[in-house]
Amino acid sequence: MSNILVSAMNRRAFLLSAATAPLLASGAVHARAPLLGVKSPAWYRFNVGDFEVTVVSDGVLDLGTLAGVYPGTPKPTVDGFLKSELQPVDKALTPENCLVVNTGDKLVLIDSGVGSYSTFGAGAGRLVKTLASAGIKAEDIDTILLTHAHIDHVSGIMGDDGKRLYPNAQIILSKVEHDFWTDDAKLSATGVLKLLVDAARKNLVPNKDRIAFVEPGKEAVKGISVVSTPGHSPGHVSYLISSGGKSLLYTGDAVTHPLISFKQPAWEFAFDGDAKAAAATRIKLLDMATADNLTMIGYHFPFPGIGNALKEGNAYRFVPAALEF
Ligand SMILES: [Zn+2]
Repeated sequence: MSNILVSAMNRRAFLLSAATAPLLASGAVHARAPLLGVKSPAWYRFNVGDFEVTVVSDGVLDLGTLAGVYPGTPKPTVDGFLKSELQPVDKALTPENCLVVNTGDKLVLIDSGVGSYSTFGAGAGRLVKTLASAGIKAEDIDTILLTHAHIDHVSGIMGDDGKRLYPNAQIILSKVEHDFWTDDAKLSATGVLKLLVDAARKNLVPNKDRIAFVEPGKEAVKGISVVSTPGHSPGHVSYLISSGGKSLLYTGDAVTHPLISFKQPAWEFAFDGDAKAAAATRIKLLDMATADNLTMIGYHFPFPGIGNALKEGNAYRFVPAALEF
């Protein structure tokens, strides 16, 4: 008998045994409780040395299809790659992993989500609610670190009513990034650039008096140092969180996709402001992560987005971390 036939027979026998499993008791009714229809608040807490770190999801962005966001690569190639990795080709739901670091001295939020913008669907903008479910009060956040000022990272700072969502927080980002997006010369921008400029201005300009700038190689907050990772945006930075001999690299959008950024790191990504510089930064950062076996977290990786990079030939592979509960 062929192996295929044996396999088909085994599968049928397995399905039949499941279908004919006896009820617990005669007349027992399952699933009588109402469907809840409430989405799961996603947060995950772990330690980096003495720091307590919580990944807090802002939800998922709907990017349509991935073929549309890799303009330098033919659609059949993108779709073929996705299929070979068992990924859907007709949808691209992209998570947003914000991070809260409790250093024991400071409560630091890294990146703030998409806020009330519905540009990428209704699945995002949940950060404040999810923080509450994780037991973190917005008024206790005393620092917001931004990797960059794109709409899906900067927009959770201000409410639509003009009030600060984190009333006691200082905001820290790169000066290059700040100056690029708040430059008055861009007030006449149109299209996507206008959307990005408006989002950055809405969240940064009212906070002019509470913004501080970071410099690569220096600490933004004690235990959190700044790594220059330009290309995705002009002043994009990543943050290296270090405590008690342990480290975690928050990559922001220097590395965006858990498969494509690793296995096809040179593919041009539509949201990279300077695609060539972004690819060079991505490869440099992944080389550093593999050489140092540095645990990283990607803002857009599947929740909670924590793992390590392995070098494989001229490319890399993302290995998700085992979670601790
Ligand atoms: Zn992003």
